[in-house]
Amino acid sequence: MKVYNTLSGQKEEFLPQGDEVKMYVCGVTPYSDCHIGHAMSYIIFDVIRRYLQFRGYRVKYVQNITDIDDKIIDRANQLGIATGELSGEFTARYFEDMDALNINRADIYPKATEEIPEIIEVVQGLVDKGYAYPAGGSVYFRVRNVSDYGKLSHRSLESMMSAEGALGSDDKESPMDFVLWKAAKPGEPSWESPWGPGRPGWHIECSVMSLKYLGNTLDIHGGGQDLVFPHHENEIAQSESFTGIKPFVKYWLHNGLVQLGEEKMSKSLGNLITIREALEKYSPDAIRIFVLSSHYRSPLTYSEETLEAAERGVERLRQTVRGELGEKEPTGEMISEAYRKQFIDAMDDDFNTAQALAVLFDLARGINRLSDEGYSIAEGQQLLLELAGVLGIKLEAPNQIVGHVGRNEIDGKDIAGKRGEKLRQLLDTIERTAADPSADIEEIRGYINLVLAVRDSLRKERQFKRADEIRDRLIKCGFTIKDTAWEYEWRYMRQSSR
Ligand SMILES: [Zn+2]
Repeated sequence: MKVYNTLSGQKEEFLPQGDEVKMYVCGVTPYSDCHIGHAMSYIIFDVIRRYLQFRGYRVKYVQNITDIDDKIIDRANQLGIATGELSGEFTARYFEDMDALNINRADIYPKATEEIPEIIEVVQGLVDKGYAYPAGGSVYFRVRNVSDYGKLSHRSLESMMSAEGALGSDDKESPMDFVLWKAAKPGEPSWESPWGPGRPGWHIECSVMSLKYLGNTLDIHGGGQDLVFPHHENEIAQSESFTGIKPFVKYWLHNGLVQLGEEKMSKSLGNLITIREALEKYSPDAIRIFVLSSHYRSPLTYSEETLEAAERGVERLRQTVRGELGEKEPTGEMISEAYRKQFIDAMDDDFNTAQALAVLFDLARGINRLSDEGYSIAEGQQLLLELAGVLGIKLEAPNQIVGHVGRNEIDGKDIAGKRGEKLRQLLDTIERTAADPSADIEEIRGYINLVLAVRDSLRKERQFKRADEIRDRLIKCGFTIKDTAWEYEWRYMRQSSR
């Protein structure tokens, strides 16, 4: 298995220290709802963890929660509530979002406010070793004492100094020094320390928590590319200076960032789409397919069109796993282990999820072909479910049922003779099923598609009144109908939980 390591700038053979992979991913600062950028990062590391488990590794996965921070303090003050109340609320909402996206929970979620004694101990240790110094009630890291600072972001201290400008404060020895412990300002939440009341800086949290829960050396440390500098650079400096052990991390993995159009999606640009907003429109499986359709190191551009295409894709896979069994004998011809091997080859190559998804769609086509020929497809369906599961894609019917009928997709001979009495019967069946809470709309999916195809043919003949009657009848039954240039889409919300 090969993984791209930001530290070396190359794909490297993945050789963890033991059979338990120690994995750390930077977590959230809970002061607002998570957006699609968070979804991308946590879906990707969820898939990496699932894949390692699929390949036989045990994985210990730690993700921190930065539950004290300037942003939390500011927002809590605006709302007039305690910082703990704000962070508690948004931590709960974070878990709801992650569960909805079928992201498996980490093994441990340490919180900054619950690790204060350990943080103070490490900061004191860095002071004792000469890597840090107290000043004005705060403690700063002395970057000049780390000869290889900049090795992750591949920058020299001199170039960083000039690029960052002199963001010095009177207390710091050098502009590049960063804060480990922040002196409390009046009215801020604070903890007692040898340097007076204060709170931890962001970078030190991750060093302390990974050391405590995973040991001196991690196998995988993940995060977004925007964390490479300064956050991860500083984590390396802190951890390696404190323990004296290198490397702090064997493999640094960084995901690309989500863009909206040409711009980065970010709070400061005001162009965020929250996970909640996306889940109102798209199924969790579709959001996962959208994220996994491009390589995790590349930027990902959010667009309605791409997500709609992902939704149609996942519906094709769902239909394949729901398909009826054929009657002939099982056949190993199409549904061989070749698909499993192709899937593994793709994922072994630095988690090429786009290629792995292509294998799933190939497999689905193979299954459908066998089904058309009347062969048993149970084995293929099982493999499709298993491999989709490695990507965290469930292929279960969601509460919202979505169907698409391409214009000209349904054969004219299917439609012929379905305009009079037959059309009325089809519409009656649809209405009866929609009104019956114990019935399943999935069972009459074909009827709905057929009725929409009849409507299409009427529209082509400019019989708009009759076409509209069909649409209105479906809307009355609870369907939403959307016409686009290439297809008709229908949606239906299940009333019951089935
Ligand atoms: Zn971190």
